[in-house]
Amino acid sequence: MADRLSTYRSKRDFEKTREPKGEASVKPSKRLRFVIQKHDATRLHYDLRLELDGVFKSWAVTRGPSLDPHDKRLAVEVEDHPLDYGDFEGTIAKGQYGGGTVMLWDRGYWRPEGGLSPEEALAKGDFKFTLQGKRLRGGFVLARMRRDRESGKRTNWLLIKHRDDHAVTTDGARILDENATSVASGRSMEEIAEGRGRRPRPS
Ligand code: MN
Repeated sequence: MADRLSTYRSKRDFEKTREPKGEASVKPSKRLRFVIQKHDATRLHYDLRLELDGVFKSWAVTRGPSLDPHDKRLAVEVEDHPLDYGDFEGTIAKGQYGGGTVMLWDRGYWRPEGGLSPEEALAKGDFKFTLQGKRLRGGFVLARMRRDRESGKRTNWLLIKHRDDHAVTTDGARILDENATSVASGRSMEEIAEGRGRRPRPS
């Protein structure tokens, strides 16, 4: 997996950040894991990470996920992350890549939906999946947008909730406000930033 994490490693100075180097071997689980990290960087966003082929495929969701199928949330594809990133909660030093506070906002398992393999669905740009987390449940789709001049070298997707029992018709972002603490440690962003409170419990 070394190759798949070369971009991840090249962006970081591990003398200066406590983020995982991606060298720890993570016990394989029968089910595919997902994690959402609330990340108070230059701009607050929520990082969606879905385990696939030994890494976390990752998207930075600028406004965070919504439970309202009418909402299309911009999800910027970012570099694959190591599986031990799924237990990372803490601060990234100022001046480092992604400097700011990281909270484990949700975690659990996911499974692909539809007839295609996840690799095929990602290549096609129409990736349907179901989340079974502590906070997020039900079907979502990541739909890749056409590249345009403004997006430049970024690959932009839209994260959209499917219509199902877990969808809502109004106030789709309320789940973000109602769950302001870490799913792993119970801490607020302030407590994490100050290094107070409990360490996150592994999932
Ligand atoms: Mn981030």
